[in-house]
This record gives sequence, structure tokens and C-alpha cells, in this order.
Amino acid sequence: MSEIVTRFAPSPTGLLHLGNVRTALLNWLYARKHGGRFLLRFEDTDRERSEKQFIQAICDDLGWLGLDWDGDILFQSDQAAQHRQALDRLAEQEMAYRCFCTEGQLALDRKLAASRGLPPRYSGRCRSLASEESASRAEHEAHVWRLPVHRDDGEVIVPDVLRGDVHFACHDLDDPVIVRSDGSFTFLLPNAVDDAIDSVTHVMRGDDHLSNSAYQVWLLQHLDMAVPAYLHHGLLLGRDGAKLSKRSGSHSAAELRQEGLMPMALMQAMVRLGHPNISEDALSLDALMQHFDARHVSTTAIRWSDDDMWRWHTRLLHNLPAEALLAQVREHLPEADESFALLVQGNMERAEDVLAYRRMLDAGTALSEEAESVANDAGNTFYRTALDAWNGMARNENDWKIWVQAIKEGTGRTGKGLFMPLRVALTGALHGPEMSGIVGFLGEGGVRKRLEDMIQRIS
Ligand code: GLU
Repeated sequence: MSEIVTRFAPSPTGLLHLGNVRTALLNWLYARKHGGRFLLRFEDTDRERSEKQFIQAICDDLGWLGLDWDGDILFQSDQAAQHRQALDRLAEQEMAYRCFCTEGQLALDRKLAASRGLPPRYSGRCRSLASEESASRAEHEAHVWRLPVHRDDGEVIVPDVLRGDVHFACHDLDDPVIVRSDGSFTFLLPNAVDDAIDSVTHVMRGDDHLSNSAYQVWLLQHLDMAVPAYLHHGLLLGRDGAKLSKRSGSHSAAELRQEGLMPMALMQAMVRLGHPNISEDALSLDALMQHFDARHVSTTAIRWSDDDMWRWHTRLLHNLPAEALLAQVREHLPEADESFALLVQGNMERAEDVLAYRRMLDAGTALSEEAESVANDAGNTFYRTALDAWNGMARNENDWKIWVQAIKEGTGRTGKGLFMPLRVALTGALHGPEMSGIVGFLGEGGVRKRLEDMIQRIS
């Protein structure tokens, strides 16, 4: 079999959103898994809506996600001459025709069709214009170009790896517009012709493109160009069950990056949609690739969950090696060191959670209202007893156990009533790592300082 080539073909008219991330990731995985190539092609022929800043932003986001592409970035606009040539070839074979119908006429046709209970298809009015008439009218009349796909018989077959062959009766298809009245191409022709030029073998994209694929197969066949295999995946749904959009809870990759999400968390949640059997231990992109099987890609719509993504974020955070962990922790607490980061690693869901433990680094840290009330409830005498016990102790490895026993005896407090005020004094937080670890981290002087601060604070 020849080399597999996939591509991600965004239009640079906006930021990379979750739906695009999924399409990019699936195409990347498919290519990498099969030792093929993954191309990045910007479909920038919509001059009005395409913006340079989005090209840069999309490249940055793909880089952030670790989705590398092969070769140079491709731009659809570079192939304008090929698109024209393709149109000419179709026109020569009468496989594309000019349509002079005005907007008003088309609207009327649609109304008429609706009143008869028919779908709002093109009436076919200009389909059989003689070529001389068409050419002479074109000199002074606005027109679009259409493909004569609609017919009473015949069918177009879209070869889909996930669904098998999808049959479209020509009778159910329309005569789509491929060139607008301003001379610009619609999506259909450039996208399909570029896939052929770029030797794309597999097109993985959302099933909202399924009927586009029918027109594109028709086009490629009439141009004698290779038809790729398609993999139409189901769309992502938002929390309200509607197609994932900004309104239904989608995010841009840039937004998530800003929120501190680890890109692998996004990848994990994405790949696992429809892949429930991927081992929980597959933590790297490489490992995910080993498990990836295109046959599991869902052809029905599937619900996206931010919660799953953030759960993965936490899981990955808990597994980060010290150096990477420290880098994240330091973004919020620049004074943190590795031993602090490792101590609290298992007790944070996001890196900013370390702020709750700031008191371990700085005894004078302000307390939250809740922590303050726990401390006040324990009161000065409690902390004085704790300090005296700490000062009077012979230092050894069982510091924590001996200390806590002494406080228990001195204050009569047990359980939560004993541990919580100590935790608050030492860390500032109500929950966190094991107390023995905290005591070890703070050391003799550190514990003393925090108790003294608390006594002063309460008095
Ligand atoms: N530019 C198209 C889009 O963003 C590409 C679709 C495709 O993958 O073929 O929807």
C-alpha cells in the first residue's frame, strides 16, 4: 500500500477550537500510526475572512499540542491557477455550467418548491443553456458556476473507512455552486483538488461534510483525479446536547492554554472519546498512538466533557517529574523549591492550588476565613501548649507522633479538633499532605515560627 497522507485543513478565520483540535489530532494519529505523513494546509481562499494572525495562532496551538506536521505549511491560495484549470476542464466537458439566476429568482424557486413539499434544490433553469449563449451573457451578466450533479438516475459513492460506502442518489443531490458571482471559489473544488495535488490518501473530518464529500467525489472523478478514502467522524456535542460551539461550552485551545491546562490533558480526553479501552497508563502521546485504532472513532455525535479533561490534567500533574512540576508550581509561587513541590504534588488539582499552602513558605501568610475560624476556635492556649510541647521535645524521627501525643494530653483535643488547627498553623490550609511530611519539610525552626505567628495573631 502506498504511503498514508492525511492533512489538517483549517480556514484561518478563527482560533483553533475543540472541534478542530479533534480533527487535527485524529488526522495526526492516523498518519503517525501508519508511518505516513501529516500535512497542514491553510484554506485561505476566503480573502475577506482569512487573517494572518489566525494562521500564526493555529500554528502556535498545534505546536503547543505537540501535533507536528510534515514539510512546509501549504496554502490553498498558492494553487489558484490549478483551481482555475480544473474549472476550465469541467466547463470544456460541460461538467460545470454558468448560472445566471438572480437571488430573487432563486428565492422564488425555493418558495415554490416548499409550497409543493419539495426540497429547496436548484431548479436547473440554466443547466442546459447553449455554450455560446452562456458565454455571451457572461460578458455582461453576473453569474455563478454550478456542477450538474442532480440527475434522475445514477449515484455517487463516498468510500468511507468508518461507515463503508455511502451511496448518494444523484436524484437527491443538488447542483452546487463552485464559483461565486465575485469569481471566488466555494470550498468544494479547491479543497478536493488540493487533496489530489497534495496526494492526500485519507480525509478525516466531521460528518457535517458528508454531503460535501459526495460532490467532491463527483468532481474528482470528472477531473480524473484520485479520490481519497474518507473517515467522517461524529461531531462533538456540548453540555446542552447541541453541536459543540462557543455557546454550548467549547473553548479555544488558546483559552485553555491560558488557564494553565496541560496540552496532554486535552489530548487524553480527546483520544479517549470512543476509545474506552485505552489503558489508563497510556500517558504520553506515543502511548496513545499505540492504542489508537481508527475503527473506534465514533461515527455518531459524542458529548464532550470539560470535567474529564481537567481530571486528566490532575492525573498528569500527579505524575509529573520533579523538574516539570516545579516549573508549574513556580508560576504561582516563585519562591517554591523542589521539596515543597513534591510534598504538595498529590494534593493539588491544578498548579495554582499550591497557593493554599503558601504558609509553608512564609509564616506570615494571611489565612482564609475558614482557616482563621478554625484557628480562633482552637485558641491561644491550644497553640501555646503545642509550642511548649514542640520546644520541650527531644528531636528524632518520630517528631510528629511524639508531638501530637503530647498536645493531645495537654489539651484534651482529639481527632479533627486536634489536627485541623495544627494543619492550619503549619500550612494555612484545611487539607493537604500528611502532617508528618509537613513537619519534616518545615523542620524544627519552621514549625516553631508558624506556631509563634499563630499565637501572636490570635492574641
Ligand atoms: N477548511 C475546511 C474546514 O475548515 C476543511 C474541511 C476538510 O477537512 O476538508 O471545514
